[in-house]
Amino acid sequence: MSSFQESFATTFPAVRVRFGAGVRHKVGEEMEAMGLHRALILTTPQQADTGAEFAALLGARAAGVYSGAAMHTPVAISEEATAKALALGADCVVAVGGGSTTGLGKAIALRTDLPQIVVPTTYAGSEATGILGQTEGGKKTTLTSPKVQPEVILYDAELVRTLPVGMTVTSALNAMAHAAEGLYAQNRSPISTLMALEGLRAFRDALPRVLENPDDLHARGETLYGAWLCGTVLGMVGMALHHKLCHTLGGSFDLPHAETHSVILPHAIAYNEAAAARELAPVAGIFGGKSAGRALHDFAIRMKAPLALRDLGMKEADLDRATEIATQNPYWNPRPVEAGALRRLLQNAWDGAAPAA
Ligand code: NAD
Repeated sequence: MSSFQESFATTFPAVRVRFGAGVRHKVGEEMEAMGLHRALILTTPQQADTGAEFAALLGARAAGVYSGAAMHTPVAISEEATAKALALGADCVVAVGGGSTTGLGKAIALRTDLPQIVVPTTYAGSEATGILGQTEGGKKTTLTSPKVQPEVILYDAELVRTLPVGMTVTSALNAMAHAAEGLYAQNRSPISTLMALEGLRAFRDALPRVLENPDDLHARGETLYGAWLCGTVLGMVGMALHHKLCHTLGGSFDLPHAETHSVILPHAIAYNEAAAARELAPVAGIFGGKSAGRALHDFAIRMKAPLALRDLGMKEADLDRATEIATQNPYWNPRPVEAGALRRLLQNAWDGAAPAA
């Protein structure tokens, strides 16, 4: 069955995407094609060495390196990095890293309109969206703007090879969550649906091979392909209960980003399956199971993903408060978000139990 819908609207941002092991060596070529001469290279402190490698690669095209990117894009860091970009006369940013580094590049673009070249090293997918989450005074706000959409993405399998196996799994499930929720989004289109399904298939096929051999560049490339597709879906359509729960747990209980997505995914999908059975049926087909929620849970077990909120540091006593926060200002969701059912979902996720059928 095709993904056709009788009526739909969709917008495609103008993004150039290049894939290939070693494609990071083309970053100067990409700058040249865009008429750019001075890049500020961005990384986290943990990936400062990669930043230095890029500075060497770019030679005179490197204006400098800023290795202060941090989780959830703190505004103070964005302002410091923006000041550095302006002081160095940078005409673009080259962000090398995961969602945190990409977020910093977006925050600089928001303030300066500098073009962004992103070289992702996780599967989070932020490089494919015009979405920016920022934190200030302990509060996270999210905006969507074409100003923050990166112009060029270079997916280099050699760079994602260093991602530790545990992070590889949680980051992949984080990406898969964008696709799974995209399937029932109100503003989905046949194109977002086919990208979501292809993204899920890419992870189903390649993730087990990456776990078997983390240096398998073909499999690593295929997981990046999945990340691009799933991230593009995130940028195209609205998210629902799963993302709301993860934002609640991350924002109010300080749970780690990718791990929380991993644990919640099968539960949120099982919750919504009652209201979006037709849209989620292909997920059960792709992962092999009677239902999408159970099939994703079984895949997570096979991938040795974390399964329980209690293992991420969540206190059982906080589950009532999490339910309360998650039911305030809910995102649109295919199934009404009802406190009792949500509390049961969170209990299952805390216990590490299989999702309710
Ligand atoms: P991250 O960018 O915070 O990276 C986690 C850690 O892993 C960092 O220390 C990083 O340096 C390190 N790392 C990254 N790649 C590595 C590699 N290949 N080898 C070794 N170490 C590596 O983690 P993330 O999960 O990619 O991003 C999470 C952040 O991205 C969150 O703040 C989240 O809100 C945001 N995000 C935003 C969007 C969006 O569209 N705006 C989408 C997804 C995620």
